[in-house]
Amino acid sequence: MSVNVEQYAAISNELAAKKVTLVAVSKTKPVADIEALYALGQRDFGENYVQELVDKQTSLPGDIRWHFIGHLQSNKVKYIAPFVYLIHGVDSLKLLKEIDKQAAKNNRTIQCLLQVHIASEETKFGMDEHELAEALAQLHLFSNVKVCGLMGMASFSDDETKVRNEFKVLHQLFLKSAFSDPASAILSMGMSGDYKMAIEEGSNMVRIGSLLFGARVYP
Ligand SMILES: *Cc1c(COP(=O)(O)O)cnc(C)c1O
Repeated sequence: MSVNVEQYAAISNELAAKKVTLVAVSKTKPVADIEALYALGQRDFGENYVQELVDKQTSLPGDIRWHFIGHLQSNKVKYIAPFVYLIHGVDSLKLLKEIDKQAAKNNRTIQCLLQVHIASEETKFGMDEHELAEALAQLHLFSNVKVCGLMGMASFSDDETKVRNEFKVLHQLFLKSAFSDPASAILSMGMSGDYKMAIEEGSNMVRIGSLLFGARVYP
């Protein structure tokens, strides 16, 4: 087990003092690692892959708030719709429509964040500013989704100025957007390598994996 308990204590205290929500990103990590942080009080966990999330959810306590932070395909929404707490990466109206449909089938409202493309890498997902405005204007069509805010990923780069500017762009868009519940609107930005800067630039939810669980090893 590679959970870094001291690091977790330090980060969760730091974030609590700043009123920033910590999503512990547990993708590729075993159930035992999640249980270790759960025992310390952590309740928000983030996963990227649908099958992995479903498997873990069935074997872990029911009061965990599961965040889906990966790229979600429309045909897989149905598997997580019964229990998912917040879907971070909504990047199209088509996906929003499917989430709405599956939420209705499960008699619930699913909370979502719209993902904005702020990085220079083409490989990253997300809406551009125009698509975001269009999506925000159509939210009234979806009665079983609650769009709570925005999510974004900065470029994977050592260039601090560049990363900081990308966070600033997202924060500006966040301030301009009208969400249903402004007082509790969510801006999900920042990961292990850049979360401090993200918070300086207005983030109130960070997604941290490797600092807590150690580096990921992909098979
Ligand atoms: C994996 C992942 C993270 C966590 O990354 P770390 O660098 O390990 O903290 C955060 N956000 C998203 C969208 C991810 O896919």
